[in-house]
Amino acid sequence: MSQQGSDHSESVDGATADPAVGKTAGAGGQIDGLQFARSGGVRAGALAAAGLSRLTESGASPRNIEFRIEGGRDPSGFSVLRIAVTGSLTLTCQRCLDKLDWPLVTDTTLRLVKSQKEIELAEDEVDRVLASRSMDVAQMVEDEILLAMPMVPRHERCGGDALMQGKSGAVSPFEALAALKRGSRGDNGNAH
Ligand SMILES: [Zn+2]
Repeated sequence: MSQQGSDHSESVDGATADPAVGKTAGAGGQIDGLQFARSGGVRAGALAAAGLSRLTESGASPRNIEFRIEGGRDPSGFSVLRIAVTGSLTLTCQRCLDKLDWPLVTDTTLRLVKSQKEIELAEDEVDRVLASRSMDVAQMVEDEILLAMPMVPRHERCGGDALMQGKSGAVSPFEALAALKRGSRGDNGNAH
C-alpha cells in the first residue's frame, strides 16, 4: 500500500470521475486529500460498527459514531484536514473487567504532507498525514478514534454507578467540541 498503483487511479482526476468515490456503501467513501483541502470540502456522516473493524476487533463496541471532515488551510498556509468525531464506545474496564461506557469526542487538524519521510522527520507537535488522491474516510476516522481511546480504560469507581460516563445523548460534534478544548491527544503515542 505504499505507492498508488496505476490500476485505476487515472480516472480519479476530478472530484467525481469515479462513480464509486463518495458513494461507497455504508462507509465514508474516499477523498482526494489535497484537492479536498484546496476546495474547502466538507464531508459529514455516520459510520456503523461494521465499518470499523479495527475497533471492533480490539474489543470496543462503537455506537453513534458521527464524523465531520473539513478541508482547508492552517494559519501557515498548509493544506489540512480537520477531523471531528463523536460517539460512544463500550470498552472493558481493565480493573474489574466489566463494561465501561466511554464518550468519544475528538477534533484533530492534520497537515497533509507529500511523503512519509516528512512525517518521520517532523519534530514539532503538528499532526500530519500522508496526502493521497484516494484517502479512505472511514479509515481516517477510525485512526482518530484509536488515537483518542484510553490506553487503559478504567471506571472511576468500579462497581459504582459513577462511571466515566459522559452524556450519552446525541451531541453534535461541534457543540461538544466547543465545550471541550482539544487535549489528551499528542502524548506522543503516535511515533509510528
Ligand atoms: Zn471497573
